[in-house]
Amino acid sequence: MLQNILNIVYPNLCLSCHTSLVHTERYLCLGCQLQLPETNDHLKNENGVEKTLWGRIPFERAFSFLFFNQRGITQKLLHELKYKGNEELAVFLGSTYAKKISKTAESHKIDAIVAVPLHISKLRKRGYNQSLAFANGLSEQLGIENLSEFLIRTKATETQTKKNRPERWENVSSIFSVVEPQKFENRHVLLVDDVITTGATIESCANEIIRTCKCSLSIASIAFAA
Ligand SMILES: [Zn+2]
Repeated sequence: MLQNILNIVYPNLCLSCHTSLVHTERYLCLGCQLQLPETNDHLKNENGVEKTLWGRIPFERAFSFLFFNQRGITQKLLHELKYKGNEELAVFLGSTYAKKISKTAESHKIDAIVAVPLHISKLRKRGYNQSLAFANGLSEQLGIENLSEFLIRTKATETQTKKNRPERWENVSSIFSVVEPQKFENRHVLLVDDVITTGATIESCANEIIRTCKCSLSIASIAFAA
């Protein structure tokens, strides 16, 4: 009843097509949910994210939930996360994705989750870390321990868009630090980021974890920009 009244005053609209949502729908209408550009990476023997990262870091599996397309649904969702501060949406995406990957045998080997951290200055500006919120959704749904508080970002990096790959790598290398390496020892850790493009951030973060701790890694992100 209250929800119905709230819906009249503040209608719940689909983030993509802006039609009114019915009470069983969250964030996207059914039509837009069906159009989500899912990668289904977790069902493939090898996929685009893995090909991007091969030879750069040691990892077991890597998978992204969605393909990123300019002006597509993924971009609208990411815009909501980044500019509207919609932390709940990031958690929702994490738990939605967890339900999908939990059906694979590989996901059962993962026994810890860690999000790529934001630098404190960026965290203050943005209000929250969308990678962490996505990791929280994954962690809660999968029932796997979240170690995100033990990985920190020690330097804020400048924007990387105008740099070529080697410079980008240099730009993000050694900017992460594992606070309590023993927490990661002998575990299979799922390292979580928001968007993977060149893979430079994941590469730097993963290398720092591998350098510091004896553990195996898999990688997951909300989106992959091929
Ligand atoms: Zn829609």
